Amino acid sequence: TEACLSAIDAADALGAFVHKTPEIALERARAADERLAQGDAPAMCGLPIGIKDLFCTKGVDSQAASRILEGFKPEYESTVSQKLQDAGAVMLGKLNMDEFAMGSSNETSCYGNAVNPWRRGNDDTALTPGGSSGGSASAVAADLCLAATGTDTGGSIRQPAAFTGIVGIKPTYGRCSRWGIVAFASSLDQAGPMTKTVRDAAIMLETMCGHDAKDSTSADIPVPDFESMLTGDIKGKVIGIPREYRMDGMPEEIEMLWADGTAMLRDAGAEIRDITLPHTKYALPAYYVIAPAEASSNLARYDGVRYGHRAKLAQGDGITEMYEKTRAEGFGHEVQRRVMVGTYVLSAGFYDAYYNRARKVRTLIKRDFEQVFADGIDAILTPATPSAAFGLGEMNDADPVQMYLNDVFTVTVNLAGLPGISVPAGLDAKGLPLGLQLIGRPWEEGDLLNTAYALE
Ligand code: GLN
Repeated sequence: TEACLSAIDAADALGAFVHKTPEIALERARAADERLAQGDAPAMCGLPIGIKDLFCTKGVDSQAASRILEGFKPEYESTVSQKLQDAGAVMLGKLNMDEFAMGSSNETSCYGNAVNPWRRGNDDTALTPGGSSGGSASAVAADLCLAATGTDTGGSIRQPAAFTGIVGIKPTYGRCSRWGIVAFASSLDQAGPMTKTVRDAAIMLETMCGHDAKDSTSADIPVPDFESMLTGDIKGKVIGIPREYRMDGMPEEIEMLWADGTAMLRDAGAEIRDITLPHTKYALPAYYVIAPAEASSNLARYDGVRYGHRAKLAQGDGITEMYEKTRAEGFGHEVQRRVMVGTYVLSAGFYDAYYNRARKVRTLIKRDFEQVFADGIDAILTPATPSAAFGLGEMNDADPVQMYLNDVFTVTVNLAGLPGISVPAGLDAKGLPLGLQLIGRPWEEGDLLNTAYALE
């Protein structure tokens, strides 16, 4: 813990930790030492970790990287961070992210972005660690902590993991309790671990998940011992390669990465099959209707009354002006754009044309996956991202769709509620890490982790 705390202080330029909690860390580390001395050694006893700023942590700033939650110190602890604490994990502080988890580059954060510790060869252009869990990815990749929590609504664990050469798993929707995690799009949001290895991911995921009566969408399904399922034996497993993920203009190195991953799984004894997921091309548009719709509803609670920031009012301002000024000052551009899109697609005149249609498309996407699993596919292999990490400031804010395209391989998994993992799979020509994604059957994270283990 002390080594991590000094590494964090020395790495301020990375912008990964936005609220440091050294006193809490040292106190928990001492308590962990005592537990270990008494022979009580839960899975994560004494392990120093970082917590994404989206998780409410009791008495500690929990801002979701938004100005509107400035100074908000929750009275309660999220279920997931509580479970980690109960298992002896030591929180070092809170990690940077995109505001309300909306973004793919960490650039929408009110604190300024975190930076990727990797560089393109000798070129010292600062690169994005990805988003929204960019601080988590940067901190784990730079060895500031042993592991971190992330959340994934459309790829926010898997894309930053791929950009920084670490492992990130989004479990099946309902595996981890969402209680105490600031809501973005409630039907898509899931927490998950971001770690250096698949084994670490298995141990941490087991600690994080399980039924919680405080979240009505949390599943009452037993949590297996994921670590014991890591045998590396995938003989006879059937791996699907979806043709629709072979996009036009896909960079050659991504093609090669995918081909190499396929060969590795075949060499390990898996059977490889070409499959079709015909509604894939509608996933991104459906996601960018559903996620903003749910966000606009979830973010209605930030009204200047209950939490955080409230705008200074002028003489004669009433409650409407208070809401308007507070929300205009408190929310950044991307969040405002999502709230406006979401409100629009939910409005009486457009509800059927946009929101309802997107929900129908979502069902079709889910059925595509159900069909291939029914046909005997055990896991699906795809690239995690369409490129390696890009330069900070390289994406044009005037064209948000350019940024949204980053999520093209990951959003389908959230729409279908499936588990997905990103595993480091080598470097591109400039020396940047690339990730492969494996998508599994619902509730079969153990199997998925084992396939990822064979690929690692
Ligand atoms: N990049 C996607 C978005 O901006 C996904 C974010 C996430 O998974 N939280 O919505």
